Amino acid sequence: MVEGKRGKLASRLKIAQSQGVNSSEFVRVAPELGLDRLFDYRIPERLRGQVGLGQRLRVPWGRRSIMAYAVEFPAQPEVEAEKVREVEEVAGERPLIPAALCQLARWMADYYACDLGAALRTILPGPVRSHEGGGKMAWWISPVPGREAVAETVLKGSKAQRKAWEHLLKSGGGWLTLLARDTGIGTAVWRALVDRGLAERTEKRFVQDEALAEAGWPDAEKRPELGAEQAQAMEAWQEERKKEGAGRAILLEGVTGSGKTEIYLRAMEAVLAEGKNAIILVPEISLTPQTVARFRGRLVGQKIRLCVLHSGQTVAERRESWHEIREGRARVVIGARSALFAPLENLGLIVVDEEHDGGYKQAESPRYHARDLAVVRGRIEGAPVLLGSATPSLESGFNADRDKYRRVLLTHRVDGAKLPKVHVVDLRKEDKPKGGGPILLSADLTKALEDRRKKGEQSLVLLNRRGYAPSVQCPHCGRVEECERCAVPMTYHRGEEKLRCHFCDAEKAAPRQCTECSSPVLKFTGAGTERLEESVAEALPGVRWTRMDSDSMKARGSHAKALAAFREGRTEILLGTQMIAKGLHFPRVTCVGVVGIDGALNLPDFRASERVFQLLVQVAGRAGRGEIPGEVFVQTYTPFHPAIQFARHHDVTGFREQELEFRKAHGYPPYRRAILLSFSGSSEAQALAAAEHAVKRLREIWKDKVEVPDAGPAPIARVEGRFRFQVFLLVDKVGEVIGDLKRVVLAPKWPSGLRTSVDVDAQDLL
Ligand code: ADP
Ligand code: ZN
Ligand code: ZN
Repeated sequence: MVEGKRGKLASRLKIAQSQGVNSSEFVRVAPELGLDRLFDYRIPERLRGQVGLGQRLRVPWGRRSIMAYAVEFPAQPEVEAEKVREVEEVAGERPLIPAALCQLARWMADYYACDLGAALRTILPGPVRSHEGGGKMAWWISPVPGREAVAETVLKGSKAQRKAWEHLLKSGGGWLTLLARDTGIGTAVWRALVDRGLAERTEKRFVQDEALAEAGWPDAEKRPELGAEQAQAMEAWQEERKKEGAGRAILLEGVTGSGKTEIYLRAMEAVLAEGKNAIILVPEISLTPQTVARFRGRLVGQKIRLCVLHSGQTVAERRESWHEIREGRARVVIGARSALFAPLENLGLIVVDEEHDGGYKQAESPRYHARDLAVVRGRIEGAPVLLGSATPSLESGFNADRDKYRRVLLTHRVDGAKLPKVHVVDLRKEDKPKGGGPILLSADLTKALEDRRKKGEQSLVLLNRRGYAPSVQCPHCGRVEECERCAVPMTYHRGEEKLRCHFCDAEKAAPRQCTECSSPVLKFTGAGTERLEESVAEALPGVRWTRMDSDSMKARGSHAKALAAFREGRTEILLGTQMIAKGLHFPRVTCVGVVGIDGALNLPDFRASERVFQLLVQVAGRAGRGEIPGEVFVQTYTPFHPAIQFARHHDVTGFREQELEFRKAHGYPPYRRAILLSFSGSSEAQALAAAEHAVKRLREIWKDKVEVPDAGPAPIARVEGRFRFQVFLLVDKVGEVIGDLKRVVLAPKWPSGLRTSVDVDAQDLL
């Protein structure tokens, strides 16, 4: 008894602490509508102890008053004490922003060199802060719990109503219009269920949820018995999370198809059963109905709502989701990068699937990495973090090598399927195509594709470049059509007869002749998915294929549709960019072709090799997931490149060890941290001068402490008419330099139009 009481008190104290309620006299607030500047106020006696971190407050503002968030409790205000005005009112019983997220914002600001306001804006998105834009209301139909027995009898006579009822039980509910559309059962039938007291009808703000429209995963609600390795993985997770502060993050390193997702599902179930909540992060590209359906499947029959956050949501949808989560109505959140900031409380689990995925890094300020922030949030909230991948990033692999993370291996595929055999096709020995142009389908790959067709099996062909040809050149005078605003060739898109810049999206009609010398013949160099599509159609007459890249998959729902067609066998070949390489699970795919990988190996980026290795292993993992073994064909001019050779043997450890040696020799991450300083402007001289000035200042400040290399032009020296210069820093500790970088690079009043940025743990070096 005594124990129990003390336990309760302790947990209450902990909550109070974590909400940051305190008796401070001053509070620093961020105005709700523009979080970029912070202001100090006094908390009057009557409100002391009621203001928590993240609390919404009414404060005086000129002659009006405005709403603002409490973000800090300074010991002293920044302005003179007598000028500080008083908080008028505390809005809401509890803070709108959970305290843990306020702490996370603070951490972000300190680590990623942004101001606290920018970090808060990321956490509390615009739609939540501004209250306009109501969105449309719609009917939500859900089964009334406990009416199964009644339904048995009353629905005997009506086939349609029984079908509708069963669908409701299975799905847990849905929007009336979508239920009718997806099942083909008319709206009157669903209304009849309501009239009979079996279902409830509530009017809610409409949230389009593509995942609901397609079930997408057979037997999602079944819980398979765990294999030996999976059981060990679960044990390790359970053991680790019992430790102080939920222990170390787990790095679940499991080959493709080894049942990692099953571990995520079990971990989710375990924490939900304890009344805790879970966040599941997946790369944007894996946020498919399939993935969502698997998680949803496990919640069938429980009254637990799962909320999907994705970039396609409208303002109203995002706001609705946010409040749904904040009010505790949704307890599982699935989403890409920004779902890490879901305002869940009582967090019991953060999963980061495909933790190596580049999409976890945000390209604009704050340039955070969601995987790294997940580990930080886990630590703040005492929630276990589960990172999973078949090809962990070198950073995470290295952390596991040093026992900062706990590595858990899954070495076998669940279904006993063997990893596919990888053939490396040496393009140097291949015959050139008769009409000129690049080799897209080697003889071996063509034969394999034909063979699969005959057998009624399916294939994937990867070419990680969209458009028809990456550049257009005049063979007569050598002119390459470049973007006027960027220092890159424009890509030829045959479908639209246009040239497009892949950096700024500028487009123009494809020229009929050279714009320099008027020569009528133009040469298309290199190849993209459109050209691949053409080759496939030529080589395999009558084949049914879908091209999948961000051009062809623009329309909402087209991605899901294409996948469904492929799954149902209506298409035989799926070809496209890395979109096809990730997370998909198709048992009938037995052949994978990889085309045009050499370009990616030769990028001026120390991670080039790592990225190619990951892509190869990931795409290879799409082959042979059923009973029939798979085969992979990698076409290359550099067959002995380590990234290709290690991928050929699915040797993740071998690759890591060899690559770590290279990184160590150069002092690259993960041995040191990479920070990229960028300076850009429409005047080349001005941008360079700014970069050189910053270099000089930093050298003065740091002396020999940190080496500061010369500023140089970025590999892509001009984008959108702006000249770009960079300084690439390698440092031992981010914390030691970030203050100086803020002061020297971000804070100064640079000439107007000049932009500077500090990218900590930079991923994009181009
Ligand atoms: P990964 O996430 O590592 O690629 P998945 O979790 O998707 O692997 O598992 C691959 C396939 O095996 C899926 O179809 C999944 O439903 C199935 N599966 C996973 N664990 C088991 C198990 N213990 N027994 C039977 N099937 C399983
Ligand atoms: Zn010419
Ligand atoms: Zn451009």
